[in-house]
Amino acid sequence: MVVIKNIVCPICGCLCDDIEATVEDNKITKVKNSCSVSATKFLNYYKERNLSPLVRKNGELKPVSLEEAVDRTAEILMNADFPVIYGFACSGCEAQAVGVELAEEVGGIIDNQTVTCHGPSALGLHDQGMPTCTLGEVRHRADLIVYWGSNFQESHPRHLARYSASSEGRFRKGRKERKLVVIDVRKTPSARLADLFIPVAPGQDYELMSALRMALQYDDIEEESVAGLPVEQVEELAEMMRSCEFGVLFYGLGLTMSRGKERNIDMAVSLVRDLNKWTKFVIMPMRGHYNVTGMNEVTAWQTGYPYAVDLSHGYPWYSPGETTFTDLLRRGECDAALIVASDPLAHFPKNVAQNLCKIPYAVIDPHLSMTALAAEVVMPCAFTGIEAEGSAYRMDTVPLPLRKVVDPPPGINSDEQLVGMILHTIRSKRR
Ligand code: SF4
Repeated sequence: MVVIKNIVCPICGCLCDDIEATVEDNKITKVKNSCSVSATKFLNYYKERNLSPLVRKNGELKPVSLEEAVDRTAEILMNADFPVIYGFACSGCEAQAVGVELAEEVGGIIDNQTVTCHGPSALGLHDQGMPTCTLGEVRHRADLIVYWGSNFQESHPRHLARYSASSEGRFRKGRKERKLVVIDVRKTPSARLADLFIPVAPGQDYELMSALRMALQYDDIEEESVAGLPVEQVEELAEMMRSCEFGVLFYGLGLTMSRGKERNIDMAVSLVRDLNKWTKFVIMPMRGHYNVTGMNEVTAWQTGYPYAVDLSHGYPWYSPGETTFTDLLRRGECDAALIVASDPLAHFPKNVAQNLCKIPYAVIDPHLSMTALAAEVVMPCAFTGIEAEGSAYRMDTVPLPLRKVVDPPPGINSDEQLVGMILHTIRSKRR
């Protein structure tokens, strides 16, 4: 029996780095410091796994050798005019880098789960920049914490305790020295913890942020209510934000995926920029998948753009809405795909998912997901951060090392190795 300390949790964008696991006979039998989501994963990662490479023959997925699965995937990508390499938000940065290289080799698109979550944050950042900081600074200094459109208690269960309102920092000692505001369309479990809950009318976040900016400038708001709130309450909130010493606005999909999308993010950044005339205020997206931030970073190092990058011209071309996987599928423009650690059939809109089923694609995933069940090729992989090491970026873009806690099942490779094998096979065939 061995106890491994300081494991980084590979589940959500918090990347909590204090997990302790007890390992007996190459199995995790006990975990400490994890939230319920993390504990479930660490204690059950080995269940319901697919352990065999599969290739579709006569309409059915049949077990084959890894060499055959890799070879078939290479053929699918080489025979395509416009393939897409998609996913990687639950992979280490090392696998992501090979994924970008593969997209360049086959002259296709490299895209990731940002397209269905914080794509508007990337676009808002291009438009307005992003006055931000690290989660450590929030923990040590923030006295006003605002969550907008984020039910962090369910999506990021330890965010509050480790990094924000309930954390013990150097200059702010805990919950009593901080104010917590939650702005959302409904009273979520997170809202119940707040000192102040602001129920914004659905789809009217942009209006509320505009009114807050007006209130900060002491402009008259010539309405009795904005976004379902009396103007007096808007003015009180503006005053609360102006008079804090260090404020932070964490925002989630309630802002990025509701009416307004990237315009909401433009406005949120503008609000934070305005607040910096009065006090110190920062903004940070609540990233979901544990390394979706890393995929944006890695894609940007190698191509200059964070997601939806078209490499078919021989140089990177970026046009979200045109080069995003969802839009390519909706218009029926891509003709093959490699999907890594992602389940788009379970999450994409119906007409988009239906078009994915019409093209040949391969899947790399530890489980037989819905997307894997409809694939041409399935390759099982190890869980990075449990069975393979690597690195990942926390939601505040701080990189952290992922540990190998146990060995993967015999014959199971990491996604980095599998994507590398596909790349190597394509290059060998082209020589
Ligand atoms: S909050 Fe997220 S990173 Fe932290 S232990 Fe829970 S699932 Fe893991």
